Amino acid sequence: MKPIDFRSDTVTKPTAGMRRAIAEAEVGDDVYGEDPTVLRLEARVAERLGLEAALFVPSGTQANQVAIGAHCRAGDEVLTEAGSHILHYEGGAVPALWGVQPQPLPGERGLLKPEDVAAAVREDNMHNPRTRLLSLENTHNRGGGSVWPVERFRAVVDVARKAGLAVHLDGARLFNAEVAAGVPASTWARLTDTTSVCFSKGLGAPVGSALAGRADLIKEARRLRKRLGGGMRQAGILAAAALYALDHHVERLAEDHANARRLAAALAEVPGVKVDAARVETNMVFAEFDRPALEMVTLLGGHGVLTNPAGGPRTVRLVTHLDLSAADIDESVARIRRALA
Ligand SMILES: *Cc1c(COP(=O)(O)O)cnc(C)c1O
Repeated sequence: MKPIDFRSDTVTKPTAGMRRAIAEAEVGDDVYGEDPTVLRLEARVAERLGLEAALFVPSGTQANQVAIGAHCRAGDEVLTEAGSHILHYEGGAVPALWGVQPQPLPGERGLLKPEDVAAAVREDNMHNPRTRLLSLENTHNRGGGSVWPVERFRAVVDVARKAGLAVHLDGARLFNAEVAAGVPASTWARLTDTTSVCFSKGLGAPVGSALAGRADLIKEARRLRKRLGGGMRQAGILAAAALYALDHHVERLAEDHANARRLAAALAEVPGVKVDAARVETNMVFAEFDRPALEMVTLLGGHGVLTNPAGGPRTVRLVTHLDLSAADIDESVARIRRALA
């Protein structure tokens, strides 16, 4: 039985077309700034996000971390939603790498309220850490793949600006937001100082992320990338896959979103599963079971459906992606029914 893998949208394999693009990539030593494919990717990302410059990095974690390093000094504070990726899934990097203190803020499906941001900014006083940066996430992973409504995003950014904060956007799945909301990714990114995007999530590239932003910040991020060991040599091999993904795998995210809705609607009919289908905005389905999440992940895995726990005690996350078809969705629901019978 071939497993149906919903653990993440990172599990995809490069397509034949992407492998051809990789094979044919023109390359050079990118640490010397001589890889034409990396330079092309960086220019394309900057343009697409409406920002001045961009930097290719190995991972989304590194993109977020070089951004935080470029914005903050040791002893500064970053405001971020309590379920954010930088807080939960980056190995404690914010304090470990930069000596920066995160202040978690309450969210609704990962989205902040302007008044909560305003209240969290500390006054300029020697007793306080310096509140320096607001870091947002779109789509929000632990929020269930939720999309920031543009007006709400703008309102939160306005509050941060008035308080003199810089703004970073963790846009690992920003193109899912673009496709779901029907507005360009630049609509959000332009409001920020730095925005990260991942090519190895829904876009199906094997490796790679980018950080875009103001030219001075990207220059500093390039220095920090080297410090972290992220200066790569003939990285055009990887950038070619990212360029291919931008050309061929963005619009098709709509299929992943349709598959997620299909999955949620079918699971809502299965006894012992609770799914709020109305809350499926992009490519994630959060299903609640009568049993502990870890037990469910093991049970479903035994029936050829791979999932991950989602944070809640009984919540399991299922993510749709490039390597899953509508037929896989239907087959997975049949397997889940058998597992629970
Ligand atoms: C996956 C992800 C990242 C980056 O993860 P890497 O595995 O380091 O590429 C960053 N932010 C969010 C919201 C993510 O889902």
